[in-house]
Amino acid sequence: RMFEGGTHKLDVWSIFTPANVPADCINLGQGFMNWAPPDWIREASHKSMDQDMMSNHYAHPRGRPRLIKALSEHYSPSFENLVAEGRKLQTDEIVVTAGANCGTYAAMCAHLQPGDEVICIEPFFDQYFATIVFNGGTPVYVPLHPPKEGKQVSGSSDWTIDYDEFRAAFTPKTKAVIINTPHNPVGKVFSREELTELSKICIENDVLVIADEVYDCMVYDDKEHVRIASLPGMWERTLTVGSGGKSFAATGWRIGWLIGAPALTAATLAAHTKIVFCTNAPMQEAVAIGLEGAKEHKFFETQLQEYTERRDILCSYFDKLELPYTKPDGSYFVLVDMSKIKVPDDFVVPATCKGRGKDFKLCWWMAQTLKVVAIPPSEFYCEDHAGIGENFARFAFCKDPELLHAAGDRLLKLK
Ligand code: GLN
Repeated sequence: RMFEGGTHKLDVWSIFTPANVPADCINLGQGFMNWAPPDWIREASHKSMDQDMMSNHYAHPRGRPRLIKALSEHYSPSFENLVAEGRKLQTDEIVVTAGANCGTYAAMCAHLQPGDEVICIEPFFDQYFATIVFNGGTPVYVPLHPPKEGKQVSGSSDWTIDYDEFRAAFTPKTKAVIINTPHNPVGKVFSREELTELSKICIENDVLVIADEVYDCMVYDDKEHVRIASLPGMWERTLTVGSGGKSFAATGWRIGWLIGAPALTAATLAAHTKIVFCTNAPMQEAVAIGLEGAKEHKFFETQLQEYTERRDILCSYFDKLELPYTKPDGSYFVLVDMSKIKVPDDFVVPATCKGRGKDFKLCWWMAQTLKVVAIPPSEFYCEDHAGIGENFARFAFCKDPELLHAAGDRLLKLK
């Protein structure tokens, strides 16, 4: 699909990248923050680079011991199965990867055979498609059903999965399922009941589960983030994906990780070693420093409070505009129903947006005229279902309040 006819279809991130839209745009598109990781992390990591010569060289392919230890300390209490067993994550249950993308890629590379099917819950983070297809797999889609129309504010739990549809998607070729919670782009945090039902079906069908939980530290309003890996019968079949970039506002550092049983991580580590050999060593130190110091600095609590405020600021503008939206329980995205916004008929889009959903036209027009960038969500649907995503735009609120207000003021012109 990407390389049809010798030309590749440009990915949505490259079309709406800051370099490609007017310089005075406010970018609520790709999910990166407009602040740096905390000073106490950056300062300590610079020191580590100066003082520890080896932090400038190849790390062990699995990851630097300091980071593995910090991940074990930080994550173990959040896996209910480990708490019940009274133990912590062991070194052979962790692999540090070049961002969560690379982790998911290494997992697919390790575990897929040509012709295997991988179930994705639609809409889905677009990177999954290439990750599956490049490794010889075939994606199979199961929808999250959107909320009923007519409500100004829907909850992200109003996007629902039909278990019969999920069950029907399995075939003898199904190898794996990707479950993304908190969900990009919907912001849904799958409930314990939902994950329990999904896990039973995964066990019945004896499949691998890739649990993409990169937004696990952005779960709002006392909603519970449940790790599917920790539910009964799931540890031995689940690889949980995490992200240093999302956790510490350091998306360019490209540090992610996979957590899972040794039988699953061993093959993934072998694949990862052949893909990149190892991950950026100084930034592994930085993430380790962040995890080690998080409690003392009340880092995650403060960050969560700030994200909650930021979510509410952005949503207040969609209330003013009377544009229906889904209030996210997790992640830093708001999905807004833009169907009543009309782009002038004579507005011309660039070649990169031609033949794509009408949401590409709308988002390009918003970038050019309102100078606010959002992401067209039809990219998060397969071609056959792109029409469902076309009515929406995805806005990221990982920006400071001032910038969110400035973007909101620009958006008010839509009224
Ligand atoms: N996950 C981020 C987003 O959805 C970044 C996208 C990417 O990795 N290309 O905005």
